[in-house]
Amino acid sequence: MPFPPPLYFSNATAILPDRLIEDAALLAEGGRIKAVDARAALPCPAGAERIDAGGGYLGPGYLDIHVHGGAGADFMDGTAEAVRAAVGCHTRHGTTTIFPTTTTGSREQIRAMLEACREVRDGWAPAQGARIAGVHFYGPYFAAPKVGCHNPAGRRDPDSAEYRAAFETGLVKVATCAAELPGVEDFCREARKRGCLVTCGHSDASWTEMKRAFDAGMRHVDHFWCAMSSVPSLRERFGTPMQGSMEQFVLRHEEMSTEVIADGIHLAPELLEYAHFMKGPQRLLLVTDANRAVDMPPGRYRFGPASDGEWFESDGKVGFQPGHGLASGVVGMDAMVARMHRLAGVSLPDAARMGSLTPAERTGIAGEVGSLEAGKRADVLMLDRELAVRRVFVEGVEVPGV
Ligand SMILES: [Zn+2]
Ligand SMILES: [Zn+2]
Repeated sequence: MPFPPPLYFSNATAILPDRLIEDAALLAEGGRIKAVDARAALPCPAGAERIDAGGGYLGPGYLDIHVHGGAGADFMDGTAEAVRAAVGCHTRHGTTTIFPTTTTGSREQIRAMLEACREVRDGWAPAQGARIAGVHFYGPYFAAPKVGCHNPAGRRDPDSAEYRAAFETGLVKVATCAAELPGVEDFCREARKRGCLVTCGHSDASWTEMKRAFDAGMRHVDHFWCAMSSVPSLRERFGTPMQGSMEQFVLRHEEMSTEVIADGIHLAPELLEYAHFMKGPQRLLLVTDANRAVDMPPGRYRFGPASDGEWFESDGKVGFQPGHGLASGVVGMDAMVARMHRLAGVSLPDAARMGSLTPAERTGIAGEVGSLEAGKRADVLMLDRELAVRRVFVEGVEVPGV
């Protein structure tokens, strides 16, 4: 096959991590970004294929480190077909690097999920869309009172043989364990040793428990303010004196990062703005926490495995369990970035950074992806002025059917 010609994008505002470039141009060659600059400073080379971005935005492909499914499929369905369906769905919403995320489930269900993700990753080509950069080993090590919309039967305390085998696959790049569970320190040390971003979620942990996990390598907390401890929840656990919770621990420690589900339904705009103000765009990232109901009609779906996941309802805006509360997101990363910008008033470079460069930095792959920067993979989004995805390029190859 002859080498494809360089791509020259123009007629757009480019979104960089720290600024916008009006009337920008971007040159990609051999699957990599060669240059991005003002059009006047970056003329179209002879032989390049010109792509008119129609006066919209050129943005970096998004990364999602916390995502369960989409288009009717959950990664925990455990088949390559389900993984491909969910990956395709999120690609259409601008995600070009994805970390399929486990729920609670049996050992066999988690093994099958890892195997299906490995199969899809190994057979992957850019035209298929988002690249699987790793799995987020999220469930099953949650605190029982904070299991949320996950199937409680699939929750357990950390099992060293199980997580070592999972880490041994080399697939796990983000690893979650509630910080109050027995054995959390070994889990954190082992995950850290493998280069994972180690995180605490679905937890009622105290400051002391967080500190112990932090010393063992934990550096992140899943979906801030959702299924986590608070000063009042710890007062119920321990009485007085009232104790610092996950919330205070994250806000107090610069090294700790966290994430928000910025669909505007899980958290009000002032909390999105507050999280950005307190942690800054280098320590706060956006996640969809999306389930299988993304791009599906309103109705009743299973969260997690198709066989025995908990039932929830989607109204097309969010997942919920009547009488219990919310049950994760049903919109893509394009909506997260747009709402962080429009609802919470965060600048566009910061909002896009939190959906791209920040998760890339936290997972150790920012040298390859996460921003429109010379040398990185040409994972490029063409967005309209409303930030809706128009065309998606992965390593300089357009993904069809977006
Ligand atoms: Zn969760
Ligand atoms: Zn989740």
